[in-house]
Amino acid sequence: MKLYNSVTRTKDEFVPIDPKEVKMYTCGPTVYHFAHIGNLRSYIMEDVLEKYLRYVGYPVKRVMNITDVGHLSSDADTGEDKMLKGAKREKKTVMEIAKFYTDAFFADCEKLNIKIPDVVEPATGCIDEFIKVIEGLIEKGYAYEAGGNIYFDTSKLSQYYVFNNFAEEDLQDGVREGVEKDDNKRNKADFVLWFTKSKFDDQELKWDSPWGVGYPGWHIECSCISMKHLGEYLDIHCGGIDNAFPHHTNEIAQSEAYVGHKWCNFWFHVLHLNTTSGKMSKSKGEFLTVSLLESKGYLPVVYRFFCLLSHYRKSLVFSYENLDNAKVTYEKLVARIAKLDKNGEVDGAKFDELKKLFTEAMDNDINTSLAITALYDVLKSDANDATKRALIADFDKVLSLDLLENAEKFGKQDEACAEDDELSARVNEAIAKRAQAKKEKNFAEADRIRDELKEMGIVLVDTAQGTTWKKI
Ligand code: AMP
Ligand code: ZN
Repeated sequence: MKLYNSVTRTKDEFVPIDPKEVKMYTCGPTVYHFAHIGNLRSYIMEDVLEKYLRYVGYPVKRVMNITDVGHLSSDADTGEDKMLKGAKREKKTVMEIAKFYTDAFFADCEKLNIKIPDVVEPATGCIDEFIKVIEGLIEKGYAYEAGGNIYFDTSKLSQYYVFNNFAEEDLQDGVREGVEKDDNKRNKADFVLWFTKSKFDDQELKWDSPWGVGYPGWHIECSCISMKHLGEYLDIHCGGIDNAFPHHTNEIAQSEAYVGHKWCNFWFHVLHLNTTSGKMSKSKGEFLTVSLLESKGYLPVVYRFFCLLSHYRKSLVFSYENLDNAKVTYEKLVARIAKLDKNGEVDGAKFDELKKLFTEAMDNDINTSLAITALYDVLKSDANDATKRALIADFDKVLSLDLLENAEKFGKQDEACAEDDELSARVNEAIAKRAQAKKEKNFAEADRIRDELKEMGIVLVDTAQGTTWKKI
């Protein structure tokens, strides 16, 4: 299986460090607001990666943090804590906000068939681990105290910019746009591991530490939570592309400085979902959530399908027109599946032959759009219906599009509609005959028709505008 690795910038053969357990870490949500569908694109594609690893037979242990402290409004070390901002906005405590939006996040995940990682760890539950690692970094000479805060010293590294070829000038001008100058830093790229002095005295959550009462920086959270549950070697680290710098760059810097060797082999970055007017935002324009899509009549799984139609390494533009196209395609696909006969025996040789199309697509850097093409190839093939259904069930272990379930559901709805249509046609025909009989003063025949319908559970209601009917 080939997987694009943001560090090497090539598609590399995926070889786990220990095939008995693939270790996977995912940057979790900052729980100060609902997740927008852009955030959820990242989690959907990471879910597909995890499920595919399991599908090909690897046992996977996946860990995710919940960022409930330390993520400032600039990904660098300035601005207000996002959690505090959320708490002020809703006049609640930070922990109330964290609980509410963590639950909301997992409710969205459930709707989108995103599996919950094996371990989910809120940052506020790991303060001791953060302190231990920061102490270790100070001891090894990688961290220093200045102005009350503890900083990571990037000048101690032989290489800092692992994902991008940033120059110092870029850093100053563009990369960290909006960053205020922090005179405590020895080098521009240095970042905070522990805050005791922040501009925000009303920081709600604070803990005692060897350097005074304060709170952790965002980057140290992910390194520590990963190491706590997955040890010193990590197979795959996931996140949206915006996290590559500075968050993941800083995670690598501090983790490798701490453990003294290479930490993570593969970096899996999902490109952004944008709107037609640009970046997806929680504050500007329509706040695009799964619930909003549902309120507009879209099944959440249609959004998942929309995401899978594109490769995760291409940015994707969201518009209702694009989503409508995905909806129509999904419904047609499900309607075709509904027509497959449920009886018969699976042809093993055919199954293996067609399954290959799917694994070839997925082995090529999780190419979900080609994997969906493989699904259509199955439907078009000369395989019998039982084999087709078995393949669809098999692919859907990874795609999680509820294909057979919805085929069943929609099929039943179609049958119910067809039955209703048939009944209406019969009743309307009987009403017309009764009207004719009345016109011909054949009241016995008119009454016979009325009684016949009554036996079928239909009552006729004569009104000035004509005869209507209802079921009893
Ligand atoms: P946050 O809740 O801001 O910490 O972000 C949660 C996840 O969503 C991270 O992996 C981000 O990199 C990712 N993310 C943020 N914006 C987008 C977007 N527009 N499209 C895809 N992923 C995103
Ligand atoms: Zn992270």
